Amino acid sequence: MYACHQKPFRLSLLALLALTLTACGGARVVAGEEGPKLRVVATTGPIGDAVRAIAGDAVELRVLLGPGIDPHTYVAIESDVRAFQRADVIFYNGLHLEAQLERILRQLGKRGAATVVAVAETLPAEKLLGWEPATDKTHDPHVWHDVQLWQEAVQAIRDTLIAADPTHAERYGASAAAYLAQLDALDAYIREHAATLPPERRILVTAHDAFGYFGRAYGFEVEAIQGISSATEASAADIQALTGLIVARGVPAIFVESTISPRTIEAVRAAVRAAGREVTLGGELYSDAPGAPDGPAGTYIGMMRHNIDTIVAALGVQAASPRTTMTDLAERATALS
Ligand SMILES: [Zn+2]
Repeated sequence: MYACHQKPFRLSLLALLALTLTACGGARVVAGEEGPKLRVVATTGPIGDAVRAIAGDAVELRVLLGPGIDPHTYVAIESDVRAFQRADVIFYNGLHLEAQLERILRQLGKRGAATVVAVAETLPAEKLLGWEPATDKTHDPHVWHDVQLWQEAVQAIRDTLIAADPTHAERYGASAAAYLAQLDALDAYIREHAATLPPERRILVTAHDAFGYFGRAYGFEVEAIQGISSATEASAADIQALTGLIVARGVPAIFVESTISPRTIEAVRAAVRAAGREVTLGGELYSDAPGAPDGPAGTYIGMMRHNIDTIVAALGVQAASPRTTMTDLAERATALS
């Protein structure tokens, strides 16, 4: 489930926190040019990247969820709790993404021991997508897959850092502007590449429903076997429904995700094969966590570029071939005449 070897701390977390908060309540670090650095904890990779881009070495940053870690099921370990206790600012995604951490983080925020910000919850509600209607959760948390929407979250991160550490306001403002410009370029890159696929090819079939915002922003129909949280299991009926759609629409490729077991996607492939058709694996997408830190998908920008490149390469194959063939034929005819 979660890729950690340390013992999950779930039961005693709140008790431990209560003790610590009683012991050191209100002892906030005030960062300054000569003073200690602001201690920042970020749960997810995209949030960590934004903090790194804005604040650089002016803060001491710890990012909790590394490559391949599923935020929906992640349970805090002892060292995470220590990081929360030491932090001046904690950024998390919110909207129930980090379902197992939410209670602790809300509690920390309420007690005021640190500034705690759920960055996706700072976005205007009318820009958020709904969760499955049957649950009590209100909004889809995967907001970073729409780059323009994520830029608003980055601005909230910038404003929080400036408020917590005003001595670096100018630096944070300038670095944030530069990062937002990089995200403008990323958004344009994704749009340009998506536009190379004809509309009927823009069907994205993945293991869990992480790409709703991506689909809305870049014009893809999104279908997933599991729901918005990977914590829910796919049923045989889910697999059959998706198989029917893949066969009926001639979907050429489906995608696995770095944080999700490929088991369910393989079950769909097998069902499609049993129906007398083939669907290829289009490659691995980074849905809920970036790739290895030293690899090309190790950053938010890198993972988003990897995703659109992978999607276009896999879904563009069959769409491109008839055009290529006709061009080839025309050229051959010209050469022969
Ligand atoms: Zn997810």
